[in-house]
Amino acid sequence: MARKVKCNSCGNLDEHINMTKNDKGKYFHIGECFEKHLAHRKLIEDENRKLNELYQYIKDLHGIPKEQNIHSSVMWRIQELRNGNDIYQGKKERKYRVGVEYDLLLSAYKLKEKDIKWFIENVLQDQVDAKDVSKCLTIALKGLAEAWRLEELKKKREVEKEKQMASTKEDTSHFTTQEEIRYTRQKDDLDISNLL
Ligand SMILES: [Zn+2]
Repeated sequence: MARKVKCNSCGNLDEHINMTKNDKGKYFHIGECFEKHLAHRKLIEDENRKLNELYQYIKDLHGIPKEQNIHSSVMWRIQELRNGNDIYQGKKERKYRVGVEYDLLLSAYKLKEKDIKWFIENVLQDQVDAKDVSKCLTIALKGLAEAWRLEELKKKREVEKEKQMASTKEDTSHFTTQEEIRYTRQKDDLDISNLL
C-alpha cells in the first residue's frame, strides 16, 4: 500500500493522489485545504506589506538612518496595538475592541503628521530615542478614530458604487431585452413582407 502523507492544513493523513504540494514541498488536500492555505498565505503577505509600509513611514518621519532599526519596544507596542492592546508602563492592557490594523495606523499617522512634525522639531528637538518615537505614536493614535471613520466612509461609498453599477447593469439588460424584442418584430415584419 502506498505511504500516506499528512495534510499541512487539516492535519489528516491521506494518499498522494488526493494531495498537492506547495512551493515549499508541503502537502495539502486538493481543494478546500489548499485553498485555505493560499488564502492564509495571502493574509500574511498583506500584513507584512502593510507593516513594512508603516515601518518605512515612521523611519522617514523621524529621519532614522537606513542602517538603523526602529527600537524593538516601539515595534512591540505596534504589534500589541495590532492585537487590540496598548502598553502602559511596560505592561499591556486591552484598549481596543478590534486590533489596530497597520494600514489604519498609517492613516492615523498621516492625519496627525503636522502635529507630530511640530512635536519632533520643537519638543523632542529631533531626538529619536525609543520613548520619543513612542510619544509620537501616542499622538498618531489620537487620529485613529478619524482614520477609522474615513475608512468606513470609503467602504460605504464602494458598496454604494457597486450597487449602482449592478443596477445600471440591470437597466442595460432590460434595454437589451427591449432591443431584442424590437429586432425580432422587425424580422417578423420582414418575413411577412417576404410572403407578400
Ligand atoms: Zn487537509
